[in-house]
Amino acid sequence: VPLLLNQFLDRAVSLYGDKKAIFSEDRALTYSDLNERVNRLSDGLRKLGAVKGDRIAYLAPNSLEMLEGFYGVFQVGGVMVPLNIRLKPEDYLFILNHSESKVLFVDQDLYHLIQPIKNQLETVKEIIVHYKEESTVETGYDDWLLQHSSEPFKREELDENDVCSLLYTSGTTGNPKGVMLTHRNNYLHAMSSMHHLRVSDEDVLMHVLPMFHVNGWGSPFYYTANGSSQVCFRKTTPEAIFSALEKHRVSVMHMAPTVLNALLQYYEKNVPTIEQQVRVVIAGSAPPPAFVTRVEKELGWEFIQVYGMTETSPLSTISTIRSHLKELPLNEQYRMKAKAGISMIGCQVMVVNDFGEEVAHNGKEIGEITTRSNGVMKGYWKNEEATMETIRNGWLHTGDMATVDEYGNIDIVDRKKDVIISGGENISSIEVEGALYDHPAVLEAAVIAVPHEKWGETPHAYIVLRENEQITEKDLIAFSRDKLAHFKAITGVTFVEELPKTASGKIQKVQLRKEYLETSL
Ligand code: ATP
Ligand code: MG
Repeated sequence: VPLLLNQFLDRAVSLYGDKKAIFSEDRALTYSDLNERVNRLSDGLRKLGAVKGDRIAYLAPNSLEMLEGFYGVFQVGGVMVPLNIRLKPEDYLFILNHSESKVLFVDQDLYHLIQPIKNQLETVKEIIVHYKEESTVETGYDDWLLQHSSEPFKREELDENDVCSLLYTSGTTGNPKGVMLTHRNNYLHAMSSMHHLRVSDEDVLMHVLPMFHVNGWGSPFYYTANGSSQVCFRKTTPEAIFSALEKHRVSVMHMAPTVLNALLQYYEKNVPTIEQQVRVVIAGSAPPPAFVTRVEKELGWEFIQVYGMTETSPLSTISTIRSHLKELPLNEQYRMKAKAGISMIGCQVMVVNDFGEEVAHNGKEIGEITTRSNGVMKGYWKNEEATMETIRNGWLHTGDMATVDEYGNIDIVDRKKDVIISGGENISSIEVEGALYDHPAVLEAAVIAVPHEKWGETPHAYIVLRENEQITEKDLIAFSRDKLAHFKAITGVTFVEELPKTASGKIQKVQLRKEYLETSL
């Protein structure tokens, strides 16, 4: 049997037909309801002329429309292209034309982002709007669905190596690239994740991460397969999240550490009024150990860190503590969870030096993370050159630098492109930023390499100050020399109002490097 993603929904429908599959705003669908709508969607798509391999784009917040989109598109053999909802019209024009999408589904509240570029779309033949009642748009989505058959859909014959999604990367290091993931990639990634996260039919997942990004994209599959319920809504303020946690008895959340931080602040103020039973929270991006301690002790949630990228479906490593290490002191365990952890089942992960040899497991030697796994993408869409540069001899080169400790835990040091080479020494920009964050006046810090006559490169900081705080360049340099080995200390500071960020909230250092060169000419 080929490994196809629709099998996950089939299983849930046959075992959990009457159970709630999804709560979305004030609506809810059982697995049978969901399946019916999925069939109508596939029928509608086929009648629009969608055939195997066609790209079908979605511009929508987390919603039941997005979830049914996955399975409906796959049944016609289509490739889903989810669009980040925080982009600009010209970005959508680029992605829709580059992906050669044929149909576009748009949330009504986001339709104004498409209107200005509508006439320049080269391949989109149909735009279908997910409308609300007060809609003025002609073809509303629910009406359109109802015009089509809910009978079991005669599926397109697919191979597990057929592409099911084209996901554009965040664009932290340049233009976003279209990553082609196959049914097999996502299927096996789901199997591995459900094992490591111990997903069951008792789980209720709340979507905090956007489904248009790979982290939010991948998780619906393994919660569907297990007959868990899923909850999503548009507003993700701490208050809205906590009230949904209570209402739906949420047990699992995947989220960015920044959101988790906001939840902690909110919880501290509202402890006595909140009843919740979250068992685990999963986050990417290295948080400090003190933060892990607070999540586990104050909120009582198990904290798991994961590492991955769009190109690997996304997860490759996970920070769960193996049972024989649970004898270690708690603080040691928290420190371990603040690292990216060990490889997941189905993934081989190796940190290698410039000669391709594995680095020593001593927590000191730095190398690039490479991985070979079931999750590794088929390639970049229409970019053979970038694909060959990234996947060499079957190993995907992540561009992320890391050390490995004596337990085999991977600890991310920096992106390769962001490492600063000063007088022959490698400096981690993340480490320097960490030191600057200790200064009470600093709200945000980004450190980049700038050219230096004697040392080749030195670290330079872009700083956003906290409100009503002041500090001079000279003082901050002195502060960094106090905190760090002298060769790692910053040699200059640019104070700014805000830092350039990607739509997913990551700082764009490419932009800062450009800016620095322009202003120093
Ligand atoms: P682009 O490739 O377009 O420049 P991007 O790399 O930010 O953008 P994503 O695929 O969304 O796009 O992000 C993957 C990257 O996120 C990883 O390569 C890594 O640099 C970073 N990352 C992921 N997990 C972690 C983690 N646990 N700790 C630190 N960094 C992480
Ligand atoms: Mg990347």
